[in-house]
Amino acid sequence: MTASAKTLFEKIIDREIPATIVYEDDLSLAFRDINPAAPTHILLIPKKPIVRLCDASAEDQMLLGHLMLVATKIATAEGYGEAYRLVVNNGAAAGQSVFHLHLHILAGRPMKWPPG
Ligand code: 5GP
Repeated sequence: MTASAKTLFEKIIDREIPATIVYEDDLSLAFRDINPAAPTHILLIPKKPIVRLCDASAEDQMLLGHLMLVATKIATAEGYGEAYRLVVNNGAAAGQSVFHLHLHILAGRPMKWPPG
């Protein structure tokens, strides 16, 4: 893949653009959202460039489960292990704007239902 074909989040993984990174392991990276929608708003991404959740396949099963467990670890480290929301926007019509799978971890304020 050429540098110009990289998504924003791949550039963050490769440290080509700055981000406030809060967690990293071999499979995933988490950093603070630049435009937070809650007091804690962290984006958790797989290092593997899966475009959308619907593009994941059976071989990604372990990776997707890993992200769920890491999300809890991050929420707990932020002090919100008992009350946090995970959001995945799948596709432009659902609000996805960066086409590298990411979980939004939101916490620190009351959460309304249904989400808008
Ligand atoms: P989406 O709309 O694809 O579900 O979420 C993309 C998220 O990426 C948005 O919440 C947006 O604020 C965040 N974002 C966009 N550009 C940047 C950036 O350069 N740095 C960081 N940390 N977050 C970004």
